[in-house]
Amino acid sequence: MNSDLWVEEKFKDFLGLRLKVEKVLFSGKSEFQTVDVVETKGHGKMLLNDGLIMVTERDEFAYHDMITHVPMFVHPSPKNVLVIGGGDGGTAREVLRHTSVEKCTMVEIDGMVVDACREYIPQTSKDLDHPKMNLIIGDGVEFVKNTNEKFDVIIVDSTDPIGPAQPLFGEDFYKDIYACLSDNGIVVSQGESSWYAMDIQQSLLKVLNQVFPACYLYSFSNLTYPGGLWSFTFASKKYHPINDFESKRVEESGLEFDYYNKELHSAAFALPSFAKKGLKGLIKN
Ligand code: SAM
Repeated sequence: MNSDLWVEEKFKDFLGLRLKVEKVLFSGKSEFQTVDVVETKGHGKMLLNDGLIMVTERDEFAYHDMITHVPMFVHPSPKNVLVIGGGDGGTAREVLRHTSVEKCTMVEIDGMVVDACREYIPQTSKDLDHPKMNLIIGDGVEFVKNTNEKFDVIIVDSTDPIGPAQPLFGEDFYKDIYACLSDNGIVVSQGESSWYAMDIQQSLLKVLNQVFPACYLYSFSNLTYPGGLWSFTFASKKYHPINDFESKRVEESGLEFDYYNKELHSAAFALPSFAKKGLKGLIKN
């Protein structure tokens, strides 16, 4: 038994992030990807899909706070919410903290991710059986094509644009998203990193601009994604993410957060100059 076990996420052919592993808890291969859950020394339990880090217990709150609470506090009363992907359950957990929510539908393609997280990462998966949850194991692309429901907020909590997640970055998908958003709906999507994946950001924002009247990008700091500075896109039929944000609603909600707060809500939309230059013309102020 190797007592000095490390897991390394290799990014492109020039970068690696290594974490010390105490124990391998689960390793499987679904029809979509490999799924691993390991206990790390410094980051608690960690989920990897195809060897890429999805969540670690230590910093998942930053990602899940920012992907969820930014749109949920811009929309004045989100009742029907859709999460695409998000199999670890962290985004749904945060959505369900908002008392306006009547139903949270989550469409995750890979049942193995959900099962592994239910078993080994209750920190993120603990609310997957909440009475307001509607968990569907299926393809998010097909779901938005076929649903008759209208959603107030849609959160695309996807992996990188590889394999089944590739269409989640395409125009057809966002046309379907537009069609199933309510008249004042908001869609927020996993938007990659300006450091190493600005090409993906540019392509996603081009697609969003084809479909929505205005698009925005906001960022946050993640310890275990390549580049550290990660982003989400924000697009809406109606709302501006800062001008239509009523910060008093955050206090009135009584919710407490470890990452999100009312100051950070607006500050997150201020991007470093290299990102502003690279994404010029694709994001509004
Ligand atoms: N926080 C993570 C990150 O950015 O690294 C993403 C978390 S979540 C685990 C991403 C999920 O999206 C994966 O479990 C994957 O199976 C799911 N997914 C990929 N393509 C999908 C699709 N077409 N429909 C629904 N879920 C999909």
